[in-house]
Amino acid sequence: MNRIALLSPLDGWLLPLAEVPDAVFAQGLAGDGVAIDPVAGTLHAPCAGDVLPLGSAAHAVSLRVAEGCDLLLHVGIDTVALGGAGFEALVRPGQHVAAGEALLRFDVQALAEAAPSAVTPLVLSGIGRFEPGPLHRAVQVGEALGELWLPDPAADAADVAAGPVRHGRFRVPFEHGLHARPAAQMVAALRGLAADVFLLANGRRADLRSTVALMALGLRCGDDVEVQARGAQAGEALRRLAALLSPPAETPRKTEAPASRTILPGEALTAVAAVPGKALGVAVPLLDDDTPLDAASRGADAERAALHEALATVLAHLRHHIKHADDERADGEQAGILAAHVELLQDPHLREQAQARIDAGASAASGWRAATRAACAELTALADPHLRARAADLRDLERQVLRVLAGEAIDAGPRLPERAIVLADELLPSDFLRLDASRLAGIAMARGGSTSHVAILAAARGIPTLVAAGPAVLDIAPGTPLILDGEAGTLHVDPPETQCRALDRALSEQAERERGERAAAHLPATTTDGIGVRVMANVGALREAEGARALGADGCGLLRSEFLYLDRRDAPDEALQAREYAAFASAFGELPLTVRTLDAGGDKPIPYLPLPREDNPALGLRGLRTGLRHPELLVAQLRALLRVGRPQQIRILLPMVNEPGELAKARAMLDACAYDLGLDRAPALGVMIETPASALLAAELLREADFLSIGSNDLAQYALAMDRGHPELAAHLDGLHPAVLRLIATTAQAAHAAQKKISLCGGLGADPLALPILLGLGVHELSVVPGAIPRIKAQVRRLAMRDCAGLAHCAIRLNSAAEVRALARRWQPAAAPAMQEVPG
Ligand code: PEP
Ligand code: MG
Repeated sequence: MNRIALLSPLDGWLLPLAEVPDAVFAQGLAGDGVAIDPVAGTLHAPCAGDVLPLGSAAHAVSLRVAEGCDLLLHVGIDTVALGGAGFEALVRPGQHVAAGEALLRFDVQALAEAAPSAVTPLVLSGIGRFEPGPLHRAVQVGEALGELWLPDPAADAADVAAGPVRHGRFRVPFEHGLHARPAAQMVAALRGLAADVFLLANGRRADLRSTVALMALGLRCGDDVEVQARGAQAGEALRRLAALLSPPAETPRKTEAPASRTILPGEALTAVAAVPGKALGVAVPLLDDDTPLDAASRGADAERAALHEALATVLAHLRHHIKHADDERADGEQAGILAAHVELLQDPHLREQAQARIDAGASAASGWRAATRAACAELTALADPHLRARAADLRDLERQVLRVLAGEAIDAGPRLPERAIVLADELLPSDFLRLDASRLAGIAMARGGSTSHVAILAAARGIPTLVAAGPAVLDIAPGTPLILDGEAGTLHVDPPETQCRALDRALSEQAERERGERAAAHLPATTTDGIGVRVMANVGALREAEGARALGADGCGLLRSEFLYLDRRDAPDEALQAREYAAFASAFGELPLTVRTLDAGGDKPIPYLPLPREDNPALGLRGLRTGLRHPELLVAQLRALLRVGRPQQIRILLPMVNEPGELAKARAMLDACAYDLGLDRAPALGVMIETPASALLAAELLREADFLSIGSNDLAQYALAMDRGHPELAAHLDGLHPAVLRLIATTAQAAHAAQKKISLCGGLGADPLALPILLGLGVHELSVVPGAIPRIKAQVRRLAMRDCAGLAHCAIRLNSAAEVRALARRWQPAAAPAMQEVPG
């Protein structure tokens, strides 16, 4: 390895990259490095190198330090949009500079006003390793920052990938061309793949390991590029690039769709099951929206006004839908998603981007489309599937605004026949809301993900849904009979008549049964041998809480308070939180309201929280760990809960606790908050049992905790060491695994011994096969999705606790979740009819 000393390029304050207010740099997607918040406006070379050509915006300089190793100095954040204003280059491309030589001059004050931030990242791209010295200090130009270690070129030669060269052709979709952020995203998308990948354009070639080399190609929006990839994962590299770049102009838009084929009668297409349930109906293919785009500008003022008006129309429409949703169960989800759309539509950055394009000569429609597509491209490149799924929301808003600009009716949906099974490439939330739910039996999408907002909306309305079914679904002729199985993940095309008749009968019986269960949902659930079981609701929005009462909830066993923090630009303050919690408390009347403190991190990222990037977020700063690291967040939440003033009704639940010490710290904070507010009584404080550690220490935790609640989703994830978001492991991540059941048994025994309440609020509680086992293990309080409450109460009334105890005793002695499920299916409680299964 060769060592090169890096010197500070600026006077200012030295920061770790993680604190740069831009996710691409902060998450290290652009490479390793540091950042400086400048106090003076001359950028100097941190080491010797050759100046690389960059775009016309002159807001950044790159130096080639050695073959394959470049340093990028990016002055400020989002400064590419300034188009070079306020920057003066002091060097030319190709010039060799010595360490400390002046590279660029800029006006710090003007920059701080015009750009989101003047913080200047210095990142390494390509080969080599950066080792920073001490951070969080003032630095002056020329002061040592750290060291750059470069590998021996001879060792490098061994890494060249073998195999045939594969080619791809793409078009640059990014509004400002291939600047730092998209270039970094491309490099990050390919990092770790066994492939050598190059981008070829304008007679030059850039290695896709180097952000700077990509930027140096000087590519503009709409430029065509060629990609050459070689190595074992060359195909995967091309696929990942296809997700970031557009197809070239002459290829049709849906490049990912394989050639269409004839579908045979009786054939079953496989897909990912997103919403369970079975549906019998007829195919209704919905074509992609092709709203005409008016690209001619009538002048910036007129186009600005047109966009302003169209945005106001869509906003009013969204707000109307939030207020007037027509299904109490679905309201909570729908209102939450539409509220997120309202936030997005008001996003100043998105609006400014559209307006900047209009000022540069675009029409309102093309300005808006370009702005939303640029934002989509950034989201699509992110690793987190939840954030990637939000790109669909932006596409939806793009479409709605374009519809209004084209003078189309915003609410008019297609006419559906009875029992329609809608087939689409990717349905967006507004498409879904325009469908007549009373005629909608099921949905199958060629693309889409199970965490998409449409999947959530469909789940709230109980509409069986398949996603990722592939392009073949779009070839099914309108009116073809279909059976959609949202459990097995299959779509049967033109199934035999006998199968349709059997399913039809079973669905009618099921509907009849559900009507009966709903009618009895307000009565208590008591087993045949007289043990009361409390069935509460998991909620995440106020409308959902109101709906839960109507479905017979005996209270709220889990209010996921994350909803208050999502889709915002900063954390909600104490007063706002207090108002929200008070509204939930009123919605549940006198019944218990269990509020879980913020469970951020892991699979629930909250973009504006200052959480560091983690290699393994599920094992990192999440749940209470975040609250203890950022006490101001937890204190605001605890004070808000205390200010509601219903200590007998509210229970506070702490997520991701491992040991009594963490609980003791939270308890001390709660006591201090109560003291500050002059209160002599605080609500009950409990912990979630989500890790094997907390289950095994349940007895110790109960010395400090007032109650326990088992989070079986996470408990299974951590006990079985399976990521709960992993698509291939999903079928094996089963809370009925005997190891998980033993942890539940240990927890329940500890709670009974301490005579304290124990409940279970994970998804396992809504699983009909799990219910008798959980009751038998001693869990007599459940919290489940509101829609499942009537069914669970009805099932409890058919069970005897002593039989359940016998079943649980056997279940925890088995070898696998599959064996437990098989046992539970065979098990016939003495007094109960067999469990009903709908044929498919
Ligand atoms: C759980 O882990 O089971 C739980 C209820 O919490 P969440 O699903 O919100 O992580
Ligand atoms: Mg959890």
